[in-house]
Amino acid sequence: MTQDYSDLRAAVTKLCAKYPGEYWRALDRDMAYPTEFVNDLTKSGWLAVLIPEEFGGAGLPLSAAAAVLEEVQAQGCNGAACHAQMYTMGTLLRHGSQAQKETYLPKIASGELRLQAFGVTEPSSGTDTGALKTTAKIDGDDFVINGQKIWTSRAEHSDLMLLLARTTPLHDGMKKTHGLSVILVDMRTAVGNGLTLRPIRTMMNHATTEVFFDNLRVPRENLIGEEGKGFRYILSGMNAERILIAAECIGDAKWFTKKSVDYANDRKVFDRPIGQNQGVQFPIAKAFANMRAAELMVAEALRLFEAGENPGAEANMAKMLAADASFEAANACVQTHGGFGFAEEYDVERKFRETRLYQVAPISTNLILSYLAEHVLGLPRSY
Ligand SMILES: Cc1cc2nc3c(=O)[nH]c(=O)nc-3n(C[C@H](O)[C@H](O)[C@H](O)COP(=O)(O)OP(=O)(O)OC[C@H]3O[C@@H](n4cnc5c(N)ncnc54)[C@H](O)[C@@H]3O)c2cc1C
Repeated sequence: MTQDYSDLRAAVTKLCAKYPGEYWRALDRDMAYPTEFVNDLTKSGWLAVLIPEEFGGAGLPLSAAAAVLEEVQAQGCNGAACHAQMYTMGTLLRHGSQAQKETYLPKIASGELRLQAFGVTEPSSGTDTGALKTTAKIDGDDFVINGQKIWTSRAEHSDLMLLLARTTPLHDGMKKTHGLSVILVDMRTAVGNGLTLRPIRTMMNHATTEVFFDNLRVPRENLIGEEGKGFRYILSGMNAERILIAAECIGDAKWFTKKSVDYANDRKVFDRPIGQNQGVQFPIAKAFANMRAAELMVAEALRLFEAGENPGAEANMAKMLAADASFEAANACVQTHGGFGFAEEYDVERKFRETRLYQVAPISTNLILSYLAEHVLGLPRSY
């Protein structure tokens, strides 16, 4: 049984209270990054809970990180501005050299360096990661990087990017997931010297970008782990990523449900609270039941993860069920609010847009279903 971290949750709740709906609405209007919020979370140590104590973090298990992110969402804030640091750091921790860990992790823990950007997805390959085209070729002591990424979120607000690029050209008979490597790019020196970032405006405020590499030179010492094994390293972090995103969705579902219940109790139409009507109650209650079921799957995925197992099925199911539950709760919340569900000042429409993302990223529902069909149920691979 994982802990419930009530003290940690209370402290995160207190921090989040400084960033109410007005703060997020103003950022949303301007598509601006929540710098103060992210700095505050960093200074308070919440983004470093997974970094071992010897490198300046709290050395807590994944369930602590899940509790932080769930609470951030349940308080109406948006962890998408910084959640990647929690799971990209894991690649450095598990596969980086001792020297890399000593160089970067203490600075990431203190906030001196931000590791917020994760460059995997490309415009032409999409979900088919092995088909990515960005190359890193060895030239003396450097890699020379050419290609393009898309949807690299937070790149403008990060110092470091964890990049997946092809270091061995594909040849006949080679598995396309081989020959990919993970490289740590220091964007402080790279931007303007072979690295260009172009923001993408999206349906919600997400600070995401297109990234262009044009003969960008990165020292070979920035290779994480062994050359050619990058796909495996990225895969090894995916359970943690899915579980953490699932926890965020649980937080979102709780926020929507509270908002729905408060409004349904308060709003009077035909001289009685709208919440007295079963037509209003039932969608909220159903979404609540689905959130609770998803929350149990998140707990099970965390339990297995912390027992040292490889809970691919549970992490995927937790992510899918929690994303469905948060979107169901969001939809019920808009309906409960009637016209006001569409008004900016209620925050419901903004959170509705934000939580919709998790049906698609970081992995879309179809890909989770095909994983379950193939790897859990033993059905033929569909792609
Ligand atoms: C706001 C935002 C932020 C993101 N941040 C990052 C980031 O920081 N770093 C990063 O690397 N990526 C990031 N992504 C990318 C994200 O992980 C991808 O969008 C997602 O994995 C889907 O890939 P795609 O968009 O290329 O869709 P595609 O692969 O083109 O798929 C399109 C649709 O087809 C379906 N589909 C594709 N193949 C199959 C199949 N075989 N069977 C059934 N259905 C299929 C998919 O489920 C999807 O619904 C972000 C995306 C968004 C929108």
